[in-house]
Amino acid sequence: MLKATHAVIKSVAQKLSLTEHEVEGLLAVDAAHEFEVSTTTGKKFPAWRIQHSKKRGPYKGGIRFHPNVSRTEVQALATLMSLKTAAVNLPLGGGKGGVSVDPKSLTEQELEEISRDYAKKLTPHIGPDVDVPAPDVNTNPKIIDWMADEYAKQTGDKTNASFTGKSLKAGGSAGRDAATGRGGVIVLSEVLNSAGIDNKEVRIAVQGFGNVGAFFATVAAIDRPNWKVVAASDSGATLTDEDGLAVADLAAFKNDRGSFRDYSMAEVSGPEAVLSADVDVLVLAALDGAVNSDNQSEVRARYILELANGPVTDKAADALTERGVTIIPDIVANAGGVTVSYFEWLQNKNNEKWTEEKVNKKLAEYLIPATTAMLEMAKIKEVSLKEAAMMVAIERLLAA
Ligand code: NAD
Repeated sequence: MLKATHAVIKSVAQKLSLTEHEVEGLLAVDAAHEFEVSTTTGKKFPAWRIQHSKKRGPYKGGIRFHPNVSRTEVQALATLMSLKTAAVNLPLGGGKGGVSVDPKSLTEQELEEISRDYAKKLTPHIGPDVDVPAPDVNTNPKIIDWMADEYAKQTGDKTNASFTGKSLKAGGSAGRDAATGRGGVIVLSEVLNSAGIDNKEVRIAVQGFGNVGAFFATVAAIDRPNWKVVAASDSGATLTDEDGLAVADLAAFKNDRGSFRDYSMAEVSGPEAVLSADVDVLVLAALDGAVNSDNQSEVRARYILELANGPVTDKAADALTERGVTIIPDIVANAGGVTVSYFEWLQNKNNEKWTEEKVNKKLAEYLIPATTAMLEMAKIKEVSLKEAAMMVAIERLLAA
């Protein structure tokens, strides 16, 4: 992943005629903290926090708990965070953290212990104006609340601005749950608008109906009456209805029953079927590498919205672009989450509490210009939207 991330940066840098020194600066990290977290039951796990760049503001990025977490993965994700915050023009830098652990193998008490130990060991290197971590894969508001509480215990900090993604009662922001999905709706709308098709019927398939996919579909159903979600999948099944799926029903069913497999109000097929749905837009909100060299030829959509991180492999992206498919890249498409994290941090620092309406309005104020900047760059440089988003971000990082 790190090699692929560096390769993309180098290739974009070449098109921007950057010097070797500038490229080295983009690839280097400011600091890599490597340590061990442990439980009172004697379990130990390797842990990292990598701070890539604070040229534009405090390091920002999630903490991942997963057995496959490695130093190089964390470094790649930290680098991508610097690009994402710059692509959306947030006054933040990029960082990422992780613990190589399977949280399912831990008791609740052990989970709390490693979360607190992680925050305690990082305390000298983070803080509201230095590095503000957030949740990522397998971490959630409960875990972040423990970490923020531990940081406050260690430092006496009262701002609550040391971590974002906290529960509402611990200083979290309204609108954070829906932010990534809602952001996807805003970005897709701008792209379709620029192509002159936002006011026509737009048929959509959504892969992954978790937090991001379900909120994307729910917000789209309310805010964009001309968009129709005709296919949706989870890890067990794809549901299809040519007349449009009842999105609110699906979300409730998934909450109750956990899987789409037993849903009876639509056609049910295997989870892979969503990729070949006959739609205008394929929304990828499940896994990295979901569209790859083996299955890219099945995609029939003209647009792909990358709501997951890296859901289209680089090779597949080249083949799809050649076929005329427009891929709306993750660093802009799924930036709604980090944008509302930024709003949470601002609210905590200024002791404010914004309404959900204000959060949603401000989200659009960041994502619309970010999408426009990407579209304009793509036109000027005659490159893909992914390269264009990277170019916008890299130029901002170099100017900082
Ligand atoms: P989640 O765990 O809530 O949901 C993931 C969904 O994907 C689940 O419904 C699961 O059933 C489904 N899934 C898994 N394998 C599948 C398969 N083979 N086919 C179809 N569906 C499958 O996770 P989430 O928070 O919704 O995140 C989804 C993606 O978005 C992840 O890649 C995450 O890193 C990325 N992301 C999330 C946020 C955020 O704010 N949550 C922000 C930026 C990026």
